[in-house]
Amino acid sequence: MVEPERTIEFRVVWMDDNLQYHVNRGYRVQYNAALGPYKGGLRFASNVNLSIIKFLGFEQTFKDALTCLPIGGAKGGSDFSPIGRSDGEVMRFCQAFMTEFHRHIGQDIDCPAGDVGVGGREVGYLYGQYRRIVGAAEFGAMSGKAVCTGGSILRPEATGFGAVYYLREVLKHDGKGIEGLRVAMSGYGNVGWGIMKKIDELGGKVTYFAGPDGYIHDPDGVCGEEKLNFILEMRAKDPMHCKPYADKFGVDFVEGQKCWGVKDVDVYMPAATQNDVNMEWAKKIAESGVPYYIEVGNMPTTNDALAFLMEQKHLTVAPSKAVNACGVSVSELEMAQNAQRIYWTAEEVDAKMEAIMKNIYDASVEAAERYGLGYNLVAGANIAGFQKVADAMMAQGIF
Ligand code: GLU
Repeated sequence: MVEPERTIEFRVVWMDDNLQYHVNRGYRVQYNAALGPYKGGLRFASNVNLSIIKFLGFEQTFKDALTCLPIGGAKGGSDFSPIGRSDGEVMRFCQAFMTEFHRHIGQDIDCPAGDVGVGGREVGYLYGQYRRIVGAAEFGAMSGKAVCTGGSILRPEATGFGAVYYLREVLKHDGKGIEGLRVAMSGYGNVGWGIMKKIDELGGKVTYFAGPDGYIHDPDGVCGEEKLNFILEMRAKDPMHCKPYADKFGVDFVEGQKCWGVKDVDVYMPAATQNDVNMEWAKKIAESGVPYYIEVGNMPTTNDALAFLMEQKHLTVAPSKAVNACGVSVSELEMAQNAQRIYWTAEEVDAKMEAIMKNIYDASVEAAERYGLGYNLVAGANIAGFQKVADAMMAQGIF
C-alpha cells in the first residue's frame, strides 16, 4: 500500500510572452485504484517536487476512501507557478502539460482536478486541450470544470463549506454550535474563502486570517458581501499579500507573523499549505488554551507538532484528510453528474455534501472507539480510510 501503483514524470516545454522557451517538470503519482479511478488534484507551484506529490498522493488515497465514494487516490502537478504569469502564458503551459499528460488519464482511469495554483482557469485550459486531443467531450476525465463545461455547482465552495460542516459535528459533540464562534485561520484561497463565507452565513466570525506577508486581525469578522468580495479581488490581483485588506477596512495587520497562539478565538483552522504549523507554533497553540485545532489544508502540521498537539488534553484535533474531503467528494459528484449527463441543483449538491461530511465524522469516531482509542478523530480517520483501501486490495487479490 505504501508503494504507488505508478509514478509518471514528464517534460513540459512552453513559450512565454517574450517568445522564450521554458522547460518544467510534470508529475502524476497514481497511488491506488483499488476503490475506483485515480482521483486527486494537480498542484502548480515552484516548490513542487516528486516527494511532495508522493506524500500528498498517499494522503489522498485515504481521504478518498474516507468519503465512501468509488474513487482511488492520486496527486500530480508541476514546478511551474502561475503567479505573475499572463493568461496567455498559463494557457500555453496548461496546453503543453496536457499534450503529454492526456495519455495517462480518462474518465475510468484517472480524473485529476485542481489544488494549490490550479483553479477554474487552469482546469478549463487543461480540460480544453484534453478534449481537443481525444476528440470527445469526455467530461469525466477532469473535475473542477466551470459549470458551462460540465462542472458541478458548488465545487469551488465545496472544500471550505465541507470543513465548516465537519466543524459543526465536532462542536455538536461538545454541545456547542457555530453561532458566535470566533475563528483564526491561515489561507484565504479558494478553501479559506469558502470557510469565511460559510462561517459568516452560520453566525460565526473569522476574526484572524494569515497570508504569506503576515496576518490580519478584524474583530468584527470577515463578514458580508463587501469584505468577502474584496478578498476575491485582492487575491486575483496579488495572491502573496493580504495587507490591502487591513488598509481597506482599517483593521490591524501584523507583518511577517502567523496568527497561531492568539487567545481571543475558539478555533484554529490552518487552511494554507503543508507544514504551516511546526513545533514552535504548536507550543504557542497549546499555551493559548484554545480548544479546537481543525486542520484544513493538506497536511498543514509537521509530524512532531501534530503528535504534540494530540497529547494536549484540552485540545480537540481534527485531521485534514477528513476535514477537507468535501472538495474531492464534490469532484466525484461532478463525475457522477457527467456520467448521467445531467446537472444537479445547488440544493441537491449541498444536501449530499452535508451527508458526506457527517458520515466522515461519524465513521472516524466509530473507528477510533472500535480500536479502544476513545474520542480520537485523527486515528479514527486513518483507520476508517485504511480499512476500506485494505479490504478492497485484499478482495482483488495480490498482484
Ligand atoms: N486538491 C483537492 C484535494 O486535495 C481536490 C482533489 C479533487 O477534487 O480531485 O482533495
